[in-house]
Amino acid sequence: MKSSLVILYHREPHDEIVKDGKIHYVPKKSPNGIVPTLKSFFADVNQGTWIAWKEIDKEQEASFEPTVTIEGEANYNVRRIPLNNQQVKDFYHITSKEAFWPILHSFPDHFTSETTDWENFKEINRLFAEAACEEAAEDALIWVHDYNLWLVPHYIREKKPNARIAFFHHTPFPSVDVFNILPWRDSIVESLLCCDIVGFHIPRYSENFVNVARSLKPVEIVKREPVSNGHMTPVGIALAEPVVTTQLSYKGQIVNIDAFPVGTNPQHIFNTLEKTKTKNKIFQIKDESKDKKIIIAAGRVDYVKGNQEKLEAYERLLERRPDLHGKVSFIMTCVQPAAGMRIYKTAQSTIEQLVGKINGRFGKFDWMPIRLFTQPIPLEDLIAYYHAADICWTAPLRDGLNLVAKEYVVAHQGKDGVLVLSEFVGAAVELPEAVLTNPYSITRMDSAIEEALAMSPEEQAQRMGKMYETVTKYDVKYWADRLLEQFKNLKRETVATQEKASV
Ligand code: UDP
Repeated sequence: MKSSLVILYHREPHDEIVKDGKIHYVPKKSPNGIVPTLKSFFADVNQGTWIAWKEIDKEQEASFEPTVTIEGEANYNVRRIPLNNQQVKDFYHITSKEAFWPILHSFPDHFTSETTDWENFKEINRLFAEAACEEAAEDALIWVHDYNLWLVPHYIREKKPNARIAFFHHTPFPSVDVFNILPWRDSIVESLLCCDIVGFHIPRYSENFVNVARSLKPVEIVKREPVSNGHMTPVGIALAEPVVTTQLSYKGQIVNIDAFPVGTNPQHIFNTLEKTKTKNKIFQIKDESKDKKIIIAAGRVDYVKGNQEKLEAYERLLERRPDLHGKVSFIMTCVQPAAGMRIYKTAQSTIEQLVGKINGRFGKFDWMPIRLFTQPIPLEDLIAYYHAADICWTAPLRDGLNLVAKEYVVAHQGKDGVLVLSEFVGAAVELPEAVLTNPYSITRMDSAIEEALAMSPEEQAQRMGKMYETVTKYDVKYWADRLLEQFKNLKRETVATQEKASV
């Protein structure tokens, strides 16, 4: 049976376990993250397909099964695109991370095009598109995710001119001056304009896309709406945007543009907080920290995450405030990247050196200023750290959304805690009650952490209460339900049919 919903996402939605010499495909254990949310879209369809890539070596080629089903999840198949080690390296570790990632995050100085194998990128995107066309029913919705698959809509449209195609960007989308540095910008924009709907986290990103499209193609703006209609801040902070374009037309076709941020899964956090194991962990963290203020920072090793800027701000804080020595405990998780991502090597050694320097300079026999983890902390433990922490310090130079900020807010249930949040992350436009900071400014970084340390319990409760309302209302389920509604009404529409309908 052909599928009425086809989702293309680079990651597989399952884990593989080997039992009695046989591979079993089982659902991923964690109910957190975007994968379970995307899978929930299959609940309403008779048959769906998830398309992802799978790295295989020469020996595995003969026995490779392109399509598998997940145990207990019979309403969709997983179609795997087999890639060899070199293809993965070129596609994922080099082209994506050395060329696209720096541009998407507005770091043109880190951009390099020389290492990019554009033909390999095109070929992999074409393979994804072909698989989607084979699996999709005539009236299917084909939903493509993220920049790794930028060219897929173009290849699908060549084969299926009437397909309904949606695209969602999980990263920031940069301003036109930065995006247009990409030598392949024309093909990318042409492909995105083949979609019936293109989605982003926040209005700034969608407006950036519209400006890019207008600079490269003869697109027309069909509809614009004020941002003040929703829950996002329309003015006054770095990523605020007062008005958004919601429809464009290109070559006579309508392209809908959507901006709505992904949420977190509060229920999972509440359930975790109720567990005895979590309660014990919280007790243990507080006991170890005695009466110290706990600051948590959670993220990955990545120059966009502002880890260096945060560590330098912490060093300045300890320099300025000897009274804090022995009174604060900074717990920082900086998950190291997968092997082979050479772009992150410098970022990782900078973090390790700075942590070593700060601990060496200020540490005492009974006090370590920073505890750094480079292995991921399991989410359940991280929730315990969130709950125990007086402050969550989240200061990326750029981040598409930042789920950590939302998870911290949920873990405090609107009662206490302080969120220090960079203005340059998508979540900032939803959370103006955070202590907003500018990681590019030494003064703003210093004043934000001082403000957080000094905040009264009343002010904490007031700010966190408001953020808690926002984050629990606009959670991941809200995001999914809203999109599902849009997809139900989505049709391939030309400017002519739209004009006729409005007469
Ligand atoms: N995370 C985790 N363990 C860690 C650090 C992070 O489980 O040690 C999780 C965190 O809970 C969050 C995700 O990783 O859900 C990071 O998402 P975010 O949007 O903040 O950043 P991204 O890594 O997607 O850029």
